[in-house]
Amino acid sequence: MTELPKKIIVNRIPYSVCNSNDPYSYEADPGVQEIRVTQEAAPARKRQYFMWEVTHLLLVSAGMSQKEADRYHAGVGSVLNRLVIDNDMDFVKGRKPVPSMIWINGLPYTIQQDIFKELQDEDLGGRVTYDTLYIQIMEDLKPEIKSYVVVHEITHAVLFEANAGNYDSKETFVEALAWQLLYFLQDNDLSILKPEGE
Ligand SMILES: [Zn+2]
Repeated sequence: MTELPKKIIVNRIPYSVCNSNDPYSYEADPGVQEIRVTQEAAPARKRQYFMWEVTHLLLVSAGMSQKEADRYHAGVGSVLNRLVIDNDMDFVKGRKPVPSMIWINGLPYTIQQDIFKELQDEDLGGRVTYDTLYIQIMEDLKPEIKSYVVVHEITHAVLFEANAGNYDSKETFVEALAWQLLYFLQDNDLSILKPEGE
């Protein structure tokens, strides 16, 4: 990656990506649909600033207050930055099967697909366990729902890994954030954010 994308779709809204003109500066401005990042930073640093701001937009659209988003967007954004770099997330576009492993914050989460009796009994589509690093998914889910459920469990893990307060346990918030993350992954070609040489 040498440059940030010129356009990015966040919360189903197109944003222009442009120069913030000052060192150490980055901001998302939903009013004019711009994400502004200093051009003076190294490519990897620009990408991280960029993902922090994307994350700020995702968190607020999922119902987090501005104040809380100011507090958590860098931590959650850094984990999302690595999620995009370390994985091929194209399964959300229906072009590839769900992978059997996914890196979240540098930890390998195994994705298991099966008919899990416990999930069935609780009427759940999936579950994540942080001690064992397992994401369990009911394998008989329809493809579109399965993509959402996998991203939902990933969202739990991202919030856990980012130590984002107790948001991981706020199911309504996680649901909303997972939909916004799914749309973000579906609506953009994020391979452009991968480091050079990949
Ligand atoms: Zn959940």
